[in-house]
Amino acid sequence: MGDLPRLVCASANPDKVAEIALVLDGLVDLLPRPADLGEVVEDAPDLEGNARLKAVAVCAAAGAGAVSDDTGLEVDALDGAPGVYSARYAGQDATYQDNVDKLLAELHRVGAVAPEHRTARFRTAVMVVWPDGRELCVEGVVEGVIAAEPTGDGGFGYDSVFVPHERDGRTFAQMGDEKHEISHRGRALRALAAVLREPRSD
Ligand code: IMP
Repeated sequence: MGDLPRLVCASANPDKVAEIALVLDGLVDLLPRPADLGEVVEDAPDLEGNARLKAVAVCAAAGAGAVSDDTGLEVDALDGAPGVYSARYAGQDATYQDNVDKLLAELHRVGAVAPEHRTARFRTAVMVVWPDGRELCVEGVVEGVIAAEPTGDGGFGYDSVFVPHERDGRTFAQMGDEKHEISHRGRALRALAAVLREPRSD
């Protein structure tokens, strides 16, 4: 890995680290998050801001460039909620199941029953921050609808109720690795890989 630029991964989630490592393979030497760094408070008003908070904290702690990601599910009938609050939609200690239950209840409450009233998208911001202050932010989006009920055993978070438009009606939780081909995070990471492949102009 000698000549590759080093980037420290701001996430310690093994699934995310594996996906980031796969897409950035051959472009960067990906290093694990410093074990002694505490949780970063994610209180920015948007995904890019939260991604920046994480990348800046890890960059400062590690003394090297850091890559972070932040994701939100935006549901049109709920005016873009849960959005930046996706992880804690049903409360500070909410489980994935709690969040899915609340999402389905909220859609029921506002009368969004038909699929055309349940449109939504996952959005991911991926941010890289370097010690000299340079930063780079890219985004990935996947459009879909929220299903009437959870289906599928794979994935995590809201995967069991998100049906992307680009496939055959299956939820992300029914797709396995096929999800990465069209997912918000897969797209954002491939956009980052494309920028990192470009020769630097300075
Ligand atoms: P994070 O910024 O990646 O931690 O994502 C915030 C929240 O969005 C998570 O706690 C999940 O509930 C949800 N989320 C993020 N990525 C996905 C995904 O790929 N599928 C389903 N839910 C996700």
